[in-house]
Amino acid sequence: MTIKVGINGYGTIGKRVADAVASQKDMKLIGVTAHSYSFNTEIAKKKGYKIFTTAGDGDFKLNGIKTDGDIKNLIEEVDIIVDATPKKIAQDNLEKLYKPSKIKGIVQGGEKHQVTGVSFVAQCNYNEALNKDFVRVVSCNTTGLCRTLNAVDKAYGIESVHATMIRRGADPWDIYHGPINAIVPVLEMPSHHGPDAKSVLHSMEIFTTALSVPSTLMHLHTVIADVRKKVNVDDAVEMFKNTTRVRIVRNAEHLRSTAEIMEFARDLGRLRGDMPEICVWQEAIGITSNSHNKLLYMQAVHQESDVIPENIDCIRAMMGFKDGDKSIKMTNETFGIK
Ligand code: NAD
Repeated sequence: MTIKVGINGYGTIGKRVADAVASQKDMKLIGVTAHSYSFNTEIAKKKGYKIFTTAGDGDFKLNGIKTDGDIKNLIEEVDIIVDATPKKIAQDNLEKLYKPSKIKGIVQGGEKHQVTGVSFVAQCNYNEALNKDFVRVVSCNTTGLCRTLNAVDKAYGIESVHATMIRRGADPWDIYHGPINAIVPVLEMPSHHGPDAKSVLHSMEIFTTALSVPSTLMHLHTVIADVRKKVNVDDAVEMFKNTTRVRIVRNAEHLRSTAEIMEFARDLGRLRGDMPEICVWQEAIGITSNSHNKLLYMQAVHQESDVIPENIDCIRAMMGFKDGDKSIKMTNETFGIK
């Protein structure tokens, strides 16, 4: 069966999911939406993607772009929509567009868990999305936390976690958000990331704090996990090396910062220079001297791309593909990741 997929919201996340769908053997990209004309529309056209409007086609005609209909035309042709519109719009779309047309829909991490009742990270809870009509792929930060904490929990049994999210102020293209000269703490305890991680790792005791910094490249997390079994650092390194969609990076390789990791991703020849794997610094994995039951690590999260493989696996799960490990493998191959 070929799964027919549409993308609503062709921005940072939507354009990446569109390219990823187009490269899966079991999926067909029917088209993408465009809300207003931009360079994104020009690229979509160049790639041969059909373009469906969400706010009329005047803007497109003016700029010489022939569109292929509106969002309703796209909906008629697809089995499932990946909604990557800015936060809070997807909830409305789900009620007004997708439910009445009886198509399935994925929303992104900007929406609340309650919008779909199922939140998804493929390697943690693939089966929860099986045959569901609406699922939320969690945010970039929550995806990063869940991937590594799920592995730590399986290996050592987590009693509780404290993590701090040092968040990039804006995406690299974004001229509207910041800060550009401040460190801005999230003034609520816990930050929303802890409760959000529990929407996937249901029984995890996790407390998070967060702050934003003047950087656009990646987020950085510091994690302290209290675990039931004794940990040693070499085993923990192996455990992360053997975890899908997690990459160990090393000081010795001069991968000492988010800047060098992003340069590395560009040098790998990745599309858009993306790094969908969560990068854990080998030298920043440690245990405290007075206890072998406290694992500390630092990880970098490429906010623009870590959730893209998740959207692909989520499509398969919702369409009834039962083998989560196989789906992850198929998706990983198309991204060139392990
Ligand atoms: P974005 O602003 O980059 O892209 C959104 C796109 O939707 C834009 O192209 C915009 O023109 C279009 N749009 C606006 N209103 C629309 C409408 N009514 N109908 C159709 N299209 C419309 O946003 P993004 O960063 O891709 O975020 C999308 C979702 O993904 C959000 O829920 C966000 O929280 C989540 N997310 C973002 C990131 C990130 O770092 N950018 C990471 C993970 C998850």
